[in-house]
Amino acid sequence: MTASDNRIKDILIVGGGTAGWMTAGLLNRFLPPGKCRITLVESADVGIIGVGEATVPPLVRYLRSLGINEDEFMVATHASYKLGIKFINWRNGNDTLWHPFGPIGGSIDHTQVFHYWLKEQREGREKGTYYDYSLQALLSEMNKAPRSLQQSTKIIESGGYAYHLDAREFAGFLARLCAKRGVRHFIDNVRGVVQDERGFIRHIETEKHGPLAADLFIDCTGFAGLLIEKALGDPYISWSDYLLCDRAWALPQGYDAKMAPYTQSTALKSGWEWRIPLSHRVGSGYVFSSRFISDEAAVQELLAHNGLDPDRAEPRLLRMRIGRRTNFWIRNCLSVGLASGFLEPLESTGIYLIQKSASLLLDLFPDNGFNESLVRHYNYKMGKAYEEVRDFIILHYVLSEREDTEFWKASRRIALPDSLAATLELYEQTGVVNWENHALFGETSFLAIAAGFGRLPRRHLPMADYSIETKAREIMAKMKAQNGQLAQTLPDHGDFIRELNSTRMAAQVS
Ligand SMILES: Cc1cc2nc3c(=O)[nH]c(=O)nc-3n(C[C@H](O)[C@H](O)[C@H](O)COP(=O)(O)OP(=O)(O)OC[C@H]3O[C@@H](n4cnc5c(N)ncnc54)[C@H](O)[C@@H]3O)c2cc1C
Repeated sequence: MTASDNRIKDILIVGGGTAGWMTAGLLNRFLPPGKCRITLVESADVGIIGVGEATVPPLVRYLRSLGINEDEFMVATHASYKLGIKFINWRNGNDTLWHPFGPIGGSIDHTQVFHYWLKEQREGREKGTYYDYSLQALLSEMNKAPRSLQQSTKIIESGGYAYHLDAREFAGFLARLCAKRGVRHFIDNVRGVVQDERGFIRHIETEKHGPLAADLFIDCTGFAGLLIEKALGDPYISWSDYLLCDRAWALPQGYDAKMAPYTQSTALKSGWEWRIPLSHRVGSGYVFSSRFISDEAAVQELLAHNGLDPDRAEPRLLRMRIGRRTNFWIRNCLSVGLASGFLEPLESTGIYLIQKSASLLLDLFPDNGFNESLVRHYNYKMGKAYEEVRDFIILHYVLSEREDTEFWKASRRIALPDSLAATLELYEQTGVVNWENHALFGETSFLAIAAGFGRLPRRHLPMADYSIETKAREIMAKMKAQNGQLAQTLPDHGDFIRELNSTRMAAQVS
């Protein structure tokens, strides 16, 4: 038998939400349909969750790797640009802080601008914030797009941006793309899972198409976890002691001509509100903790906060299970998306974790032997990816100084995971951030959030004392000036999105 005889030739994906279609799209890109057949089955009766509208920069890479035209994608999914997140009232109930994408100033003589900024601030020469060195924060505050229709910029070229998108349209866009590229698509209900004597999945039972067999099964059935949990029995690890929010009211709102190029997160009494501007409407909602507020009181707070008439609004309640799988991959079955785990969407990480799962599967793509060490390695890496995101989200709560409600008091006082406790101790004592291996949110993101909450280390890094002070100040002034100059050349974000849509529509008609 040659090694190639043992290749996986048939993959069955169950579930047609963002997880199912993003996984199908990426696998199809690198596994030619003639050599490996990919089939996706989804139910017409069980809908997709249909939220998940803010993204993070790795999605740019995903779209580019699939050869997707950005303008086409943006028009089809009612997308707008996202340059970061604006947090309102998170620190003390009367404040604003930013998590911008991309570098914040960059580095001088091998040391992040943060440390020069800190030194200048402590010595009384710097009055501004750390984000004053971020191009993305400046564009956000000026409501600017990161490019014009005619001109690309360093933000576009470096991929230091993301999108707001309509989750249903995104799934539909990918479904059409996958169909064109040879992915089979069945609409059917999965009724059962049949395993062989080793516990491998042999086939799934469907209502209309009968038994569907494959070499590899991917569970994208959302919170149901039909294959990995219901059939294979993988236990869920709850993180509800670390992150107290477990419910959300989703509330779509009307068109907003401003179309801010950032996601807005406003702290409310027992959680926070998201606001995501799309080209045709605004996505909003209240992520809250049912331990501290009833569903009814939460929806009233959300409606009142937005000045909306309860008789006209159509909020939808979603229950969230915070945590992750013990094993993301068992024998010939993997889970992706909500079936794998869920973290509250404070930093818009659901779609990123889908992308991470699918690309790690490609990196470690197995043959039909399903080597156990390989499976263990995948599970270890995915576990780390979830933990990194978890720690970053917890950081926002533990740095808050709010004491005005029981929710905020409790969120500040949770017992920290060891990993985050060690990070905070090192940072506070030395200024060092040990997130150099974090794939998504690294040192700059940590520093942005820590500085925004006013949590500064005892001292700047000693390296910042070796640079010539006047030279460092000149470089920093130049950074701000260059950002300001570029911002002046860029269009208003709302105008840009309208122009993009009308230009593409006109091109389709002619
Ligand atoms: C309140 C909230 C806000 C969020 N905001 C963000 C955000 O801003 N950014 C972000 O990146 N992520 C966000 N997320 C996460 C994001 O929504 C999900 O990661 C993403 O939508 C993936 O969902 P999914 O495809 O795993 O599951 P689903 O969308 O639930 O899809 C499940 C699929 O399984 C199918 N299925 C189920 N049972 C069967 C069956 N028996 N037979 C056949 N098919 C079946 C269904 O038909 C469906 O197609 C948010 C989540 C929540 C809850």
